[in-house]
Amino acid sequence: MEQIYKEIERLKQRLAQENLKAVIIPHISPDGDAVGACSAFYTALTKAGIVCHILTCDYFPEYLRWLKNITRSVSFQDKPDVCRRLIAGADLLFMLDHNTVKREGDLEPFVSVFRGDKVIIDHHPDPEEAEYMISDIRVSSTCELLYTVITGIWGREAIDPDMANALYTGINTDTGGLSHNSSRPQTYRVIADLLELGLNKELVHHYLYQMNKLTRLRLIGHALLNKLTVNPDFPLAIIPITLEELEKYNYREGDLEGLVNIPLSVEDICVSIQITQRKERVKLSFRSKGTVPVNEWAKTFFKGGGHLNAAGGQMNLPLEQVIQKINETAPWFFQTYVKR
Ligand code: 5GP
Ligand code: MN
Repeated sequence: MEQIYKEIERLKQRLAQENLKAVIIPHISPDGDAVGACSAFYTALTKAGIVCHILTCDYFPEYLRWLKNITRSVSFQDKPDVCRRLIAGADLLFMLDHNTVKREGDLEPFVSVFRGDKVIIDHHPDPEEAEYMISDIRVSSTCELLYTVITGIWGREAIDPDMANALYTGINTDTGGLSHNSSRPQTYRVIADLLELGLNKELVHHYLYQMNKLTRLRLIGHALLNKLTVNPDFPLAIIPITLEELEKYNYREGDLEGLVNIPLSVEDICVSIQITQRKERVKLSFRSKGTVPVNEWAKTFFKGGGHLNAAGGQMNLPLEQVIQKINETAPWFFQTYVKR
């Protein structure tokens, strides 16, 4: 933590300079932690007089667009030239909730040649090099860490109720509603302070958990009833979802959020993998219970990575072949990492 406070102090000095321009970039397929962090940090930088823009390589999911400032973001899909120009012209580039430019999709080539100062604010293992490194794998979420960054630079008074809602959104969603990766007392001190600063917890819960569309419930029901299979040899659940199924249930980005966690509620299952067919690739989501490191599986065979209990990856293979690859590598994974 000592090192992090030093980095925050260095960043504070840098941000005190005049006429700064900044861009804020979340990871591809941004989740509640990435979007919450973008929302709160945009407000913090803007209030400090820094001209900034949120750039995404794809789009923010509908269920998070209520967060303040998120609809102001610029997507590379809509305005590639604007994104390119804003990156090239920025003094500072903030990478939020990811540890490598490889997780920035189509923005990667432009971020890779960025000449200004890169700042990583994140909680994933093994971050790549950056001028300012504010990274801690022990925190629940990037939003928890960002609370420390914002209060360290501008004081706790800088956090307004909308920012408190955004930061809590990240803490809540990245911990599965405070169920995993949330046993450090500090997480609750941060939440307590956010409440003092105007966090409206009921409102956040309403937006996160009470805005379902019926088609989303039906898609999840279909997946659990007809698609979920359990491996006969290992405590492993797999849920494959095809493009046709997504279309049938009128899929919107974020509709499958949380599905992959559900099989872990079964006593004997300790790994759950969701495999979702997208237009050009297959996306994998890994979840596990206890000390089973699914990030190792994602990293070794599925071009991905992530946290011990929540990881992801992607493959340019047909769905069937991805399932086959999971089944083929399952013996290696369970024999190496799971004591039976
Ligand atoms: P999700 O299953 O929610 O998409 O991702 C869970 C976690 O896995 C994310 O928070 C992120 O840390 C990690 N992750 C997801 N996809 C990828 C990927 O393609 N590459 C890497 N390195 N990590 C990923
Ligand atoms: Mn996160």
